[in-house]
Amino acid sequence: MDLQLKDKVVIVTGGAKGIGAAIVHACAAEGAVPVIVGRDAEAGKKVQSEITSGGSRCGLISVDLSTAEACAQSISQTVKEFGRLDALVNNAGRNDKVGLEEGSPEEYVASLNRNLVHYYSMAHYSLPHLKRARGSIVNVGSKTAVTGQGSTSGYASSKGAIMALTREWAAELLPYGIRVNTVIPAEVMTPLYRSWLDTFPNPEEKLNIILSKIPLEKRMTTAEEIASMVVFLLSAKSSHTTGQHLFVDGGYVHLDRALT
Ligand code: NAP
Repeated sequence: MDLQLKDKVVIVTGGAKGIGAAIVHACAAEGAVPVIVGRDAEAGKKVQSEITSGGSRCGLISVDLSTAEACAQSISQTVKEFGRLDALVNNAGRNDKVGLEEGSPEEYVASLNRNLVHYYSMAHYSLPHLKRARGSIVNVGSKTAVTGQGSTSGYASSKGAIMALTREWAAELLPYGIRVNTVIPAEVMTPLYRSWLDTFPNPEEKLNIILSKIPLEKRMTTAEEIASMVVFLLSAKSSHTTGQHLFVDGGYVHLDRALT
């Protein structure tokens, strides 16, 4: 299937690691020009060189997305370097465990800045370019928005807001033909997930308990499986799909618990 993404310039926030890096690779495999926007410069350079050493183009902007200025600058730098912007993947985030009992109002606002506000800022500053390209936006959410997790108010509410913004932006951007969708992972082995798992006294035992509750094949979703859904949603092959929440999770969130 030709996804018609050749030469399309796609910003992927948090594209240096985990799910974001898989999305960057999947975009490059389709002939698109991914632009990694993230704060770990070393990891970003590694992913960039994996792609450019194969003869493809890939941008890298090393920045922390916690300020609106950084978001604006990463959009203008992309357009300066590549001449256009066709799509935005808002993916950067971290389950930072700012809870109701353990956290504070100040920490809660800081968590929203880390996990939510840059999704808005990146979409806002991308808009003039996406209008020109009739581009699309894919957000990466989290199951915690619909299941809760405990002790993570900032992250869970950011991900809930991202689902709401997906519907809201899909509605607002109808006149421009810009589609907006959210892909929602549950359990994907990434550097972030690994570091969370390692906080448990017996990480492998904890992992086996989680795996036993994933209905389809009792395994984690791979980052590549998330990326496949993202590139499909970016592509013209999903040209009548907008405002949707797509759970790529082996049935974890919605299937009957009696199945596990
Ligand atoms: P990851 O392995 O930590 O990769 C995320 C990348 O984004 C890292 O390079 C990180 O930099 C960067 N990043 C995070 N916040 C940033 C910011 N404010 N500014 C710039 N860069 C930032 O995480 P992942 O597991 O791939 O997660 C990707 C997305 O999937 C997140 O939105 C996460 O909430 C969501 N998700 C993941 C899972 C899962 O099971 N893995 C489940 C549900 C949802 P640093 O390395 O410096 O932190």
